[in-house]
Amino acid sequence: MRTRPRTGTLMTRAWTLPVLAAAAVAAGLLTTVPYGSAGGGGADDGAAAGPAAGRLAAAGAPRGKARPDARHVVLAVHGGAGTALQRDETSPEREKAYRDGLADAIRAGKKVLDRGGDSVSAVEAAVRSLEDNPLFNAGKGAVFTTDAGHELDASIMRGSDLAAGAVAGVRHVRNPISAARLVMTKSPHVLLAGEGADDFAAAHGLRPVTQDYYWTQARWDALMAAKKKAKGARASGAALADEQAKGTVGAVARDGKRDLAAATSTGGLTNKLSGRVGDSPVVGAGTYAKNGTVAASATGDGEIFLRGAATATLSNLMEFGGKDVAAAAYEVLVKRLPKLGGEGGVIALDGEGTFDAPHSSEGMLHAYLTEDGTIVTKIFPDETPPHT
Ligand code: ASP
Repeated sequence: MRTRPRTGTLMTRAWTLPVLAAAAVAAGLLTTVPYGSAGGGGADDGAAAGPAAGRLAAAGAPRGKARPDARHVVLAVHGGAGTALQRDETSPEREKAYRDGLADAIRAGKKVLDRGGDSVSAVEAAVRSLEDNPLFNAGKGAVFTTDAGHELDASIMRGSDLAAGAVAGVRHVRNPISAARLVMTKSPHVLLAGEGADDFAAAHGLRPVTQDYYWTQARWDALMAAKKKAKGARASGAALADEQAKGTVGAVARDGKRDLAAATSTGGLTNKLSGRVGDSPVVGAGTYAKNGTVAASATGDGEIFLRGAATATLSNLMEFGGKDVAAAAYEVLVKRLPKLGGEGGVIALDGEGTFDAPHSSEGMLHAYLTEDGTIVTKIFPDETPPHT
C-alpha cells in the first residue's frame, strides 16, 4: 500500500513553525476533558490467529463470528485502523488523550442530536472534533505526502435521499468534512478535487489555512520512518508505529427521525504520492449511508476499499442479500477485502441502532453512544480484537 518516495522532492518546503506545532501536539496529548466512558466490552471467543496472534494471546482473542458489538446505538466514531495502541506500551496520559479525543467527538455529535439536530449535522460535528485533534490523521495532524505536503480527503452522506458530498486532495481547508457537506448542499456535484475544492470551500465561507496548520512532529517522524523503510533502513519503533497507524476518522449516526448519515475524513496514507486519492472521499468505498440498510465509515488500505466498493457492498449485502448489519460487515471486512490484499475496519450502524465495528487490522480505535447516554471507547486490542 505504501508508495515509494520521489527522490529529490523531500525537504523542499520551509517549515516555519515546528516548535509551535510541536507544542500543539503536546497540548493535544495532555487534554484533560473528563469523559463518561467505559472501556472494554465486546464479545471475545475463539482462539487467537493471524499476524496479531502473539499479542492477542495475552490480550484477548479475536472473534470468529459475525455478531453485533452493541445495540441501541445512536452515534459512533472511529479514529482509524492499523497497528493498535498496545496497553503495555501506552502511558496513562496517552491512553486518556485517545479516549478523550473519541469521547469528545461523541459528545460533539450528541449535543447536536440532543437539541433535535439531524444525523448529518451530528456526524459533521463529531468528525470536526476529530479533525481538530492532532492525534488523528485528519485535519490538524494529517499525514504527509511523499513530498512533505498535506492533501486531505473527506465525504459525507445522508441516508434519507442518498445525497452526498466530498472533497479530495484539499490543501487549505481546516475541516474538510464541512467542505464535503457544502459540496452536498451548495453545489450540483458530489465530489470536488484539488484547487477547485479549496476555492469552493473558501467561497462558501470556510477560512483557508496554510499547509503549516496541519503539521505535527509525530506525522513528520512517521514520514521520515516511511522513507527510511522504503530505502531498507531501520526507523524507530514509535515512528514506524505512527506510520502504520492510519488514523483516519469517521462517524455514523441515526437521528430522531431514524435517518442515517455517515462521514469520513483523512489525510490519507503516510508517504502517499501527491495526487493520490483513497477511499475516504468516495461514496460507496469509504462512506455510505442509506436508510433501510446502513450508515458506514471505513478505514484501512484505501486502494482495497476502493476496489472492493466496501461500504456500498456492505449495504447491498443487507438490501439484496438479506444479511443483518453484523453479517454484512463481517462478510466485507473479514472475508472479501483481505482477499484483495489489504486490511482495515468499518463502523456500521443500522436504522434500529444495531452497531458493529469489525476489522481485519490489529486494531481500530472507536467509540459509540447508546440511547441511555453511555459512551464506550475502545482503543486496545483486548477491547476490540480483530475478527477472523
Ligand atoms: N483509508 C484511508 C486512505 O486510504 C486511510 C485510512 O483509513 O487510514 O486514504
